[in-house]
Amino acid sequence: MSMQTTAAQAARQELGGAFSGTLVGPEDSGYDEARTVYNAMIDRRPALIARCATTADVAATIGFARDHDLLLAIRGGGHNGGGLGVVDDGVVLDLASLNSVSVDPAKRTVTAGGGCVWNQVDAATHEHGLAVPCGIISSTGVGGLALGGGIGHLSRGCGLTIDNLLAADVILADGSEARASADENTDLFWALRGGGGNFGVVTSFTFRAHPCSIVQAGPTFWPLEQTADVMRWWREFIAQAPRELGGFFATMTVPPADFLPAELHFRKVCGVIWCYNGDEAGAAEALAPVHEVGTPLLHGVGPAPMPALNSLFDGLYCPGLQWYWRADFVKELPDAAIAQHVAFAEKLPTLHSSMHMYPINGAVQDVGNAETPFAYRDADFAEVIIGVDPDPANAALIRDWTVDYWDATHPYSAGGAYVNFMMDEGHARVQASYGDNYARLTKIKGAVDPNNVFRVNQNIEPKAA
Ligand SMILES: Cc1cc2nc3c(=O)[nH]c(=O)nc-3n(C[C@H](O)[C@H](O)[C@H](O)COP(=O)(O)OP(=O)(O)OC[C@H]3O[C@@H](n4cnc5c(N)ncnc54)[C@H](O)[C@@H]3O)c2cc1C
Repeated sequence: MSMQTTAAQAARQELGGAFSGTLVGPEDSGYDEARTVYNAMIDRRPALIARCATTADVAATIGFARDHDLLLAIRGGGHNGGGLGVVDDGVVLDLASLNSVSVDPAKRTVTAGGGCVWNQVDAATHEHGLAVPCGIISSTGVGGLALGGGIGHLSRGCGLTIDNLLAADVILADGSEARASADENTDLFWALRGGGGNFGVVTSFTFRAHPCSIVQAGPTFWPLEQTADVMRWWREFIAQAPRELGGFFATMTVPPADFLPAELHFRKVCGVIWCYNGDEAGAAEALAPVHEVGTPLLHGVGPAPMPALNSLFDGLYCPGLQWYWRADFVKELPDAAIAQHVAFAEKLPTLHSSMHMYPINGAVQDVGNAETPFAYRDADFAEVIIGVDPDPANAALIRDWTVDYWDATHPYSAGGAYVNFMMDEGHARVQASYGDNYARLTKIKGAVDPNNVFRVNQNIEPKAA
């Protein structure tokens, strides 16, 4: 590629008519839309965006980036907090067109293209009274979420998303295709279940789906002043609650949403967002103790189709907001840590900013720490602190609150964090998050991607074979 030739021009010449998707460079109309990711704090200018339409396009794009020694970012749903789906001056391999979904209701499996977002999968599985455990926002990409772990409403009953991954079709760094499952390429299959986009581009995922149709869902909110008592209670309650019940703890400001009482709008509260995968009577029984804690402002649990629950927060957390993330795994939640949560809840800086504490006990802990790269199965909680606001002028405000909050609570953490809840925080943090599994990950990385072609991610460094 000469100095005068842009990456997009070179790609058009070299990939030619064989590329069936669309190639977008800085000189093309639509470039700004194509490079935009969910987190508006991220503003990167790639040299080329390759919108792949086929698996052959994926292999060709990897080859082009490799041949020209250009950084390569893989974009699934574009939600990553640190903006790892886009890169300055390099190539973005955009998978959004690989979005077919097919359900096998008899086998209770679903196969989804590597560029799907979760609402596409939710809609297809719901028709058959099934669901794949995923996250709490339906516009999140299947690719990034499923390769990092996948924590959500159904985790306690059905495990993480990776615990329900049955097979993946992957294009490797050398452009070859591989299928990974419990029977084929088993090291690769192990690594994909938590190791992120380090090992190849997944063009198709096959998941186990679970019976789940109408869930009993919604929040209980308490006054912010009751946070310490409620958090202490929730800590004990969720440790022994039936597995059908999910319930993540949050400190937040009640958004002005139609489905929430107007008198609570803009009030700072603590709360638990519940999801009971069963009938109303079962939910009422499981949630009976909730009414004995403090003085709830609202107990808004009722029947909802699972896709409606998964998209409940989509309007509040629309694309284009400023986001700053910090996270930790938590084994114990001592009163001293709770005191810090109370202090920072009182200082919630904006309407959208929040702290979520997800329970990862129950079915998540049926799988051992070394059975997948997700190394903190012995932690009971995944904590995430999110500073969020529409106004770029508040970027420093939300970042400072998030970092100060994390500094205050990190000493009580298990050490690492869920990789999908982190910004781009450097190698030591990635290594801490994979714990004892990091060494095996580096060996597998060395075998399938020795030159670290896939390095725009929470990077696992290749170890020479
Ligand atoms: C509003 C919001 C809510 C969230 N809620 C949850 C939640 O409830 N539970 C949870 O677990 N996570 C949650 N997350 C975190 C989410 O899992 C990560 O942000 C994840 O990276 C998003 O995946 P994506 O495909 O949209 O991201 P992208 O930015 O497109 O990609 C991120 C990285 O994933 C990799 N990648 C993506 N697709 C592929 C593929 N097909 N093959 C290979 N590599 C790929 C690449 O390495 C890429 O750099 C949430 C994020 C947001 C923004």
